[in-house]
Amino acid sequence: MIWGRLGIGAGIISCYMLSALLLYVHIPFCHRICPYCSFYKHTPGATPIGGFLEALAREARQRIPAGGSAARTLYLGGGTPSMLSPGHLRNLFTGLRAVVDFEALEEVTLEANPATFDAAKARLFRELGVTRVSLGIQSFDDQVLATLGREHTAAQARESVAILRRADIPAVNIDLMFSIPGQSKASWQDTLEQALALGPEHISAYNLSYEEDTAFFESLRRGEMRDDEDYNAEFFHLADNLLTQAGFEHYETSNYARPGQRSSHNCGYWRGEDYLGLGPSAVSTMDHIRSKNVADTSSYIAQIQALGHALADAESLDPEARRLERIALGLRTSEGISQDLLTADALSRAKHLAEAGLLQFAGDRLLLIHHGRALVDPIAAELV
Ligand code: SF4
Repeated sequence: MIWGRLGIGAGIISCYMLSALLLYVHIPFCHRICPYCSFYKHTPGATPIGGFLEALAREARQRIPAGGSAARTLYLGGGTPSMLSPGHLRNLFTGLRAVVDFEALEEVTLEANPATFDAAKARLFRELGVTRVSLGIQSFDDQVLATLGREHTAAQARESVAILRRADIPAVNIDLMFSIPGQSKASWQDTLEQALALGPEHISAYNLSYEEDTAFFESLRRGEMRDDEDYNAEFFHLADNLLTQAGFEHYETSNYARPGQRSSHNCGYWRGEDYLGLGPSAVSTMDHIRSKNVADTSSYIAQIQALGHALADAESLDPEARRLERIALGLRTSEGISQDLLTADALSRAKHLAEAGLLQFAGDRLLLIHHGRALVDPIAAELV
């Protein structure tokens, strides 16, 4: 266990005096492991899920002020929260409701995978207070789904959306992915069109990234897969054109929403608001202190039982670290960044990028435009 650069006496463990924060809860279980995924997750195996949920409830009590209306949004991610049984879902929400005022929440998002819930469970999501389901579909092409190692078919994905609609879930996000090995542009276009036909409020379209410690990363290293910037950009622009023509706002590099349907939780994160993460591997940033929970479910449960917290690391973010993060995150959004964040040298590099048609100065803001939106990471590197 690492106690990090701050040690444990810095007030990280005890309750914060919170105004409004983004609350994230990490459920680490998946039925099976996708070969591209770098999140902390595992199959349940012999994990005592009841014990895990008790630990989570205890961590919530420890880290959120009693009776407080501290949380503005709640996001249950993972992992696959939707694979929890109805009984476990009830326990999870009972634990959270003990310390979170659900009436004060603007949004309650639950990540779900097709084929992990039926009509009764979808109605339970709604009964428990879920207002938004983020559905990990990735593709409507069964061959592409097989490459990704997904457990569902395209038909099951379509049916999952219909089930959520019948359960009156107010907002549905469909997560999609592009530049997948073997995926043609025609397949990507068909996936986007099928997603639109299902009428979601929100679509996320992620460029597949090859993260270390994944099977895909090893395949890339061996030369069996390729990661080509120009090829990726063509897929990016295909999504941008189709989705914006269909009336979606492209408000973050990978995110599109119908008017009024942006993810409040994620917008807060991109704006640099404080967030509190519960569960194994969860990260928090509160009052410029970033801390991380132990990324091991058994250790998480044991540590909560023994110590009442599961922190493994913490560091203070100095003004320079915060400035760089504001640039990297802000450039991803349609709000862009304040020019004040840039040094004089970076500002002159930004002017060259504006001349090349990749970004635009708008009042005191600076926004990526056109092809610049597909090049957010290299442009951010240029401006820091
Ligand atoms: S279902 Fe989601 S969290 Fe689980 S392994 Fe696949 S991508 Fe990762």
